[in-house]
Amino acid sequence: MDRPRFVIDAVEAEQMAKQSGKTVLQLLPSLVKSAQSVARPPISKYHVGAVGIGSSGRIFFGANLEFPGLPLNHSVHAEQFLITNLSLNAEPRLKYIAVSAAPCGHCRQFFQELRGAPDVKMLITSSDDEKENKISNTCNDKDQEFTPLSHFLPHRFGPDDLLGKDAPLLLEPRRNGLSFTSDGGENDELKHAALDAANMSYAPYSGCPSGVALIDVEGKIYKGSYMESAAYNPSLPPVQAAIVAYVASGGGGGYERIVRAVLVEKSDAVIKQEHTARLLLQCISPKCEVKEADEGEGSGGDGGDDGKDERKRERKTKKEEQ
Ligand SMILES: [Zn+2]
Repeated sequence: MDRPRFVIDAVEAEQMAKQSGKTVLQLLPSLVKSAQSVARPPISKYHVGAVGIGSSGRIFFGANLEFPGLPLNHSVHAEQFLITNLSLNAEPRLKYIAVSAAPCGHCRQFFQELRGAPDVKMLITSSDDEKENKISNTCNDKDQEFTPLSHFLPHRFGPDDLLGKDAPLLLEPRRNGLSFTSDGGENDELKHAALDAANMSYAPYSGCPSGVALIDVEGKIYKGSYMESAAYNPSLPPVQAAIVAYVASGGGGGYERIVRAVLVEKSDAVIKQEHTARLLLQCISPKCEVKEADEGEGSGGDGGDDGKDERKRERKTKKEEQ
């Protein structure tokens, strides 16, 4: 059986569209079912799929993830998975999205962190919502009826309300200027991956970037960056982002294959990821190794949150006794 796909490059997307006599945009809704099939919703059993086209012409997939044994707010929605997938693949812009069900308020809000969010065009593939799309449609694009996000969330609250106009937004390049000063991290690839993820983190509201790196039984590393929302609650924690990376690159493996994790965050951070990251990892992979925190001084960045020296904490996971 083919491994599930989470990214389709632009050339292949064109070929696929051509073969089915469609444009790439017309192809998008037909891929939603395949995105739904990789969802992991053991609590709701409600499979949500989201498929997007970025400015590069690549197609990205997203699906919902739920974690039994934890509060529901640990869940990852399909749209957030999709945006994380774009971020992991350095895609700067989302242009179109097709989703299996109407996006919840949380996701409509999270989308606001994207540059040009009101103009991202959306199509809902479930039948009732297709009707709604047709009634309310204000944009007819290449025979497909996609509706601008501004229709789904009018009078938006977003980055414009809290940040300067030129502040880099989610998916735009950043370096947060975190670095290790103690010599604890030089030879540890996992720590460096977590540091790298923290440096790419989008945390303009708290100024507390963070990143998580996971390693599986085969030694493969997955990293995820914390992503904030202007409305705070829809923010996606770094461990969730790293789990998205794990699912998106590994396909079908169980979480128990994750054997070690590192979290990097600032030691003087106003908001901390440590406790929730530990809680989630210990729930989904009880044997996952957790270590103590190290501290260091940052050396300043080339932009990012505020460009000034920052202190950070490096949090490893501590071995659990069995
Ligand atoms: Zn949602």
